[in-house]
Amino acid sequence: MNHFQYKNDVLYCEEVSVSDIAAQVGTPFYLYSSATLTRHFQAFDGAFSHPHITCFATKSCSNIAVLNLFAKLGGGADIVSGGELFRALKAGIEPGKIVYSGVGKTEDEIRYALESGILMLNVESHQELEALQNVAAGLGVKAPVSFRVNPDVDPKTHAYISTGLAKNKFGIPIQDALQSYMAAQKMDNITIVGVSCHIGSQLIEVSPFVESLHKVKIFVSRLQESGIDISYLDLGGGVGICYNDETPPLPSEYAQALEEELGDLQCTMVLEPGRVIVGNAGILVTRVLYTKQGGKKFVIVDAGMNDLARPSLYDAFHAIKPIRRNTEAVEVADVVGPICETGDFLSRGKEVPLCEQGDLLAVMSAGAYGFSMSSNYNSRPRVPEVLVDGDGFHVIRKRETYENLIAGEVIPK
Ligand SMILES: *Cc1c(COP(=O)(O)O)cnc(C)c1O
Repeated sequence: MNHFQYKNDVLYCEEVSVSDIAAQVGTPFYLYSSATLTRHFQAFDGAFSHPHITCFATKSCSNIAVLNLFAKLGGGADIVSGGELFRALKAGIEPGKIVYSGVGKTEDEIRYALESGILMLNVESHQELEALQNVAAGLGVKAPVSFRVNPDVDPKTHAYISTGLAKNKFGIPIQDALQSYMAAQKMDNITIVGVSCHIGSQLIEVSPFVESLHKVKIFVSRLQESGIDISYLDLGGGVGICYNDETPPLPSEYAQALEEELGDLQCTMVLEPGRVIVGNAGILVTRVLYTKQGGKKFVIVDAGMNDLARPSLYDAFHAIKPIRRNTEAVEVADVVGPICETGDFLSRGKEVPLCEQGDLLAVMSAGAYGFSMSSNYNSRPRVPEVLVDGDGFHVIRKRETYENLIAGEVIPK
């Protein structure tokens, strides 16, 4: 359920007409609904009865206004860089609810995380553990550590967003992880606090999550036998959403399956949902610049692959809807952007609403990995982000200017 609905054939976000916003901010732009963000966060967070922290996956949608909304709902953050830590802190997320994942943390990033007093760092290699020990020793602190184990479970999703297979770069193979914990236990500036895993994104079945938790649980009992107790079990993110006709698990089904498998294990669960919270809480609004009939019909719009990379990168489907529904008629056409790449499309070979030059279109389900993956390719200023709240809206990120594009660039004398 989301708050992008038609009223008299005009698309609304909550109580605001999307075309009114377009008239004020211009196109293209990202549009998020506060009510949908809130509803999705609460549905997810409220589905768990076991002690837990919902750490929103910052990389999926990292605007500080969005992060602040989750902070106010009691959420934490899953971060993957120093930049994301900066955003999370600026947004008012408590350091004690921040977990840091990723295979390539630099020493500077590790130092920043330790100085900020975050909940834990999910370590992904032995060399990273050593770097952590060194930095922590330099600061005279103990680093709270969990290892990200790779359970070798097939999440049955797109190859680029599978992370929990033995062949993926993420985590430590679960069969080698005991050694890592033993090594960590001997280090003076490391405190072991948890175990973590994250097997992939856009999962539409519960079974891979349960399978991976099952393996992690067995591993936790092996840790206990070796005298290592943990307080946090981080199960990552990855719950999928409906882009087209997928039927992903409801948060309640996901939570129930995990809690059943967890049994009476004494620990706080850490959950890192991204897409499932924000994916259907955001759209990309774009205007038709031209239409043309070549070998096929092309609808050329003012948003491109630099604004929304998912179709080009993952061949991902995003439904295209008209902002004004003048007709029910559809046609098969490619909706393409202005970028000089054949891979620059938002929709390819699918039925889209019949549209004319000047029409506004909504690219649906664009809240996750939309703006956050956007770039300046082709020297295109990044688009604004707008947040609707009831009958009003706020520009939560301004449209970039041409001056922004070259800020920091220098011509040597
Ligand atoms: C990307 C990522 C997530 C979020 O994944 P979603 O599919 O958006 O829920 C969570 N944890 C880690 C470690 C990630 O890399």
